[in-house]
Amino acid sequence: MAAIQDINFEGKKVLVRVDFNVPLDENGTITDDTRMRRALPTLKHILDAGGSLIIMSHLGRPQKKKTAEGEIDVQRFTLKHLVDHLEELLELHVEFIDDPISSAAKEVCSSLQRGEIVLLENTRFHSGESSGDEELAKNFAALGDIYVNDAFGTAHRAHASTTTVAKFFTKEHKAFGFLMADELFNGNKMMTEAEQPVTAILGGAKVSDKIQLIENLMNFADNILIGGGMSYTFYKSLGYSVGNSICEDEFIPLATALLEKAASTNTKIYLPEDINAADKFDNDAATKIVSKDKIPANWQGLDIGPKTMEIYKDVLLNSKSILWNGPVGVFEMPSFAKGTNSLAESIAEATENGAYSLIGGGDSVSAIAEAGLTEKMSFISTGGGAMLELLEGKTLPGVAAIEV
Ligand code: AMP
Repeated sequence: MAAIQDINFEGKKVLVRVDFNVPLDENGTITDDTRMRRALPTLKHILDAGGSLIIMSHLGRPQKKKTAEGEIDVQRFTLKHLVDHLEELLELHVEFIDDPISSAAKEVCSSLQRGEIVLLENTRFHSGESSGDEELAKNFAALGDIYVNDAFGTAHRAHASTTTVAKFFTKEHKAFGFLMADELFNGNKMMTEAEQPVTAILGGAKVSDKIQLIENLMNFADNILIGGGMSYTFYKSLGYSVGNSICEDEFIPLATALLEKAASTNTKIYLPEDINAADKFDNDAATKIVSKDKIPANWQGLDIGPKTMEIYKDVLLNSKSILWNGPVGVFEMPSFAKGTNSLAESIAEATENGAYSLIGGGDSVSAIAEAGLTEKMSFISTGGGAMLELLEGKTLPGVAAIEV
């Protein structure tokens, strides 16, 4: 593979896969343009170096959310929603191509002049995108001279536009974009050369989603702070009653095995000492702070308690490297967001004191943004699922396809 800095883009048509999978409201207005902004350094670099841009991305899951007639919901998932904002961000005209595999698309792309930009329609409008179809990938590839992949958020998918397409470019003609390179650098740094002590905070709904991560963390983390819904499967494995808390009974033996394994490594797993329990899954529920083994029958744990917040804060302030993946409570409800917010503040404070913090995408990123702490973190990933797989020690297909 080539490094983007070393490629001569002068007069070249550059096919760039970005992750413009931004959230839209019901009117098709972008509610958070972070992913578009994070791709700008790559797009501007290519334009400044004399190239033209053929930009492609997916948006949402159009194949899974078809209309009542079984058709693609073009109105809802079209990338046309993004054209005006992309023009504002780049301060340049953007031509939209609604059928990237038509002869008209080929014609427009082949006559692109330096500095010109086209945006292709949603790659997932083609059923072959998700299956990594060769024919579709070949059609995408035919549009450009060089392929740049800056879509870290979909790097864990072996799709036509993220992986198969790279086959059709020689190694001198394909590269990671700056965002992709940055994400990989930060994820790999955490796994291989993070300054110790390394602390990972794991939250979210289910332990089953995080098993591989916990196992791989035991190779490099000193502390794992557990929170959120997965705590209760661990509690039950220790014989505590968890009331109506979310719990994956089938994973109890695995939770036991993970705790046993940790005991034989240098990794210390912390479980919450106290819990904010509620009498129902509702922001206005009656609540009480209870000790970890005292969740009343018919009540459910929806957040960590104040004692746990203090213990976790102390661990974080004594850490040199911090990884965060998943909220430690039902943070969408203000009554159960305190634990998640307090952790965000503790990580910000630790970072201010010199620790390196990597926020692993998804809900943790929203929680940090809501708390106004985004600027205080060392690196915030744009790809929840992709960062999770990277930190699990897996090879990401979109990465491997460029690296060959
Ligand atoms: P994940 O996608 O696995 O990171 O899970 C995020 C979701 O976990 C959020 O929507 C939270 O509301 C949810 N969550 C966190 N803690 C709990 C809990 N104690 N009970 C139920 N859901 C939780």
